[in-house]
Amino acid sequence: MVTHPMKQGTYTVSSGYGPRWGTFHAGLDFAAPIGTPIYAAADGVVVEGRERYNVAGFGSWIWLDCQDSVGKDFIYGHVKHDGILVKAGDRVRAGQQIGVVGNEGQSTGPHLHLEVWGAPGRLGGAHQDPAPYLAGAAQPGNAVARPVRKQGGTIFGVDVSEHQDGMSLAQAKREGVEFAIIRTTDGTHRDRCYRSHLEDAESAGMLTAAYHYLRNPSEGTSVAQQVQASLEVMGDKKRPMWIDVETNAGLHVDHIRTCKREFEKHGVRVIGVYSYVPYWEGRIAPSEPDSHEFGAFWVAAYGQNPHGKPRDIYPGDQHHQWSHPLGNQKPSLWQYGSNAQVAGYSVDINAYRGSKEQLHALFTGQLAPEEELSEEEMNTLYKQITTFISGFLGPQIDALQDVWTQLRGPKGKGWPQLGVNDKGQNLTLVDAVAALRQDVARIEKKLEGK
Ligand SMILES: [Zn+2]
Repeated sequence: MVTHPMKQGTYTVSSGYGPRWGTFHAGLDFAAPIGTPIYAAADGVVVEGRERYNVAGFGSWIWLDCQDSVGKDFIYGHVKHDGILVKAGDRVRAGQQIGVVGNEGQSTGPHLHLEVWGAPGRLGGAHQDPAPYLAGAAQPGNAVARPVRKQGGTIFGVDVSEHQDGMSLAQAKREGVEFAIIRTTDGTHRDRCYRSHLEDAESAGMLTAAYHYLRNPSEGTSVAQQVQASLEVMGDKKRPMWIDVETNAGLHVDHIRTCKREFEKHGVRVIGVYSYVPYWEGRIAPSEPDSHEFGAFWVAAYGQNPHGKPRDIYPGDQHHQWSHPLGNQKPSLWQYGSNAQVAGYSVDINAYRGSKEQLHALFTGQLAPEEELSEEEMNTLYKQITTFISGFLGPQIDALQDVWTQLRGPKGKGWPQLGVNDKGQNLTLVDAVAALRQDVARIEKKLEGK
C-alpha cells in the first residue's frame, strides 16, 4: 500500500523532481515547519537512521529499504537529526512515524526531501519521480507501530555453490539475508550454478560477490588455468572475487599472488582472501604471511557451529574473533557457522559489521559519494594503492624513464653528440631542437635579405 510521507495540510510542495539550478533534483520537496512529523511510506527495513551523521548534502537522512513490500527504497533528506526515531535494522510499518522535518545539511529552509528508488534500491537502482508514485496515497499516522525489533548494524550473508542447487536466494532475502558470495570454480571445476545463483540473488536485491577455491598446482592445474576457468564461468557476469585459501595440499603465498594478478589482469577485482585460522597461521608457506597485499580478510571460525537462524546463532559484534588478526589484519567478514537454516537449507553463514552501503564499498572498492573514511580504511586504501603502483605501474615507470633519458640524456646530463651550450654543458634533445630552430630562423633572415 502506498502511504504518504506527510499528513495532508502539514506541508506545501516546494520543489518538484527534475532539472533545477543546472543540476538534477532527484526528489520531491515538502516545505513544513521544523518538527512536523514524517512517516514511513511503506513497510520496510531501516538501512540508515539515527546512528548515521553527516550525510553529505542532506545533513542527516533516513534510508528505508521497502523492496519486499513495494519494490522501492525511500530517502528522507534534511530530517532533524535528534528527532529521528529509527535506526539501522529496525522494521517499520507503512504510516509509522519515523522522524520530523528538519533543516539539516544544504537546505534553503525547513523541508522534507523525499526520493524514491526503483529495484534493487538505492544501490544499483535508479531514482524516480515521487509525484506519480504518491498520487492517491493513503494518509499516514493511522497504523499502529509494532514494537521495533532490536537488530543492530550487522548484516548477514550466505556463500553458495552447486551444493545448494535449487536453493532460493530470493527466499533467503525475504528471511533477512542481505548478501551472497557465489562460487565460480574449484580448481578448474566449473560451478554449474554460478549464473543461476547470481541472477536469483541480484534480482532479489542482494549484494553479490564471487569466490574461487584455489588449488595447489601440485593437484593438477596451474593457477592461470584455474583463473581462466573462473573467467569463463563468469562470462559477462564478472563480479568482485574472494580467493578461497584452504586446500589440503597446502599453498604458498606466491600461488595467491599469481591468482590475484591473473584475475586483475582480466579486469576482475580481488576483494581479498578467505581462510581459517590454523590454515593462515600454519598451513600456508611461509606461515602467517601479511595479508594486506591481498586486500581484506574473510575468516572462517565456527566455534560450536549450532543449527539455527542466522541472527539467533550469531556470537555478536563484540566477539573476540573480530579482533583476532590474521597476517596483521582483523577480519572484515566472518563465516561463523555452516549450519545456519536459510530458505530450507543448512548453509555457511557470514556476518558483516556495518551497513549494506559499506559492504558494497568493500566488495566494489568504490565508495558511495557520502561515505567517509575511517583512519583504518585510509591505511588499507593507502596500502592497496601502493601495492597497485609497485605491481602494475612498474613497467610503465620504466618506459617513462626511457623517454626521459632520450629527451634529457643519461641522468639529465644531456648528450655529448648534440654539442655543448655556452656554459660547456652537453645539450639535451630539447636544447638541440631549440638551437636548430634558431639556426634555421637566422638562415631564413639572411635569405630574405638577399
Ligand atoms: Zn530536495
